[in-house]
Amino acid sequence: MKNDEIKKKFAKVIFNAKMVALVFFVLLTPSIVLKVKGMNEIFGFSEQIWFNAAIAGFIIYIGYTIFFWKCPKCGKFPGRGWFRKKCDSCGVELS
Ligand SMILES: [Zn+2]
Repeated sequence: MKNDEIKKKFAKVIFNAKMVALVFFVLLTPSIVLKVKGMNEIFGFSEQIWFNAAIAGFIIYIGYTIFFWKCPKCGKFPGRGWFRKKCDSCGVELS
């Protein structure tokens, strides 16, 4: 695989990770608003339901990190961070 292809593939991995993080954030926000404003429900859903939604979002995020946050070249964990320059496992340039 060429370096350009590796960078392109890893750019997609980062993009998807950001989308998953966004979903987590969207699911988490109502719980924070409920707490801060002392409300009982948002959009007709109770605090408990939003709390569960936040947990679900967190699990999705962790799941993505475990199963899809991989180096396109070696398939191993490249290290943390959305601004990763190199793979920690094989040393290939990622961005
Ligand atoms: Zn690697």
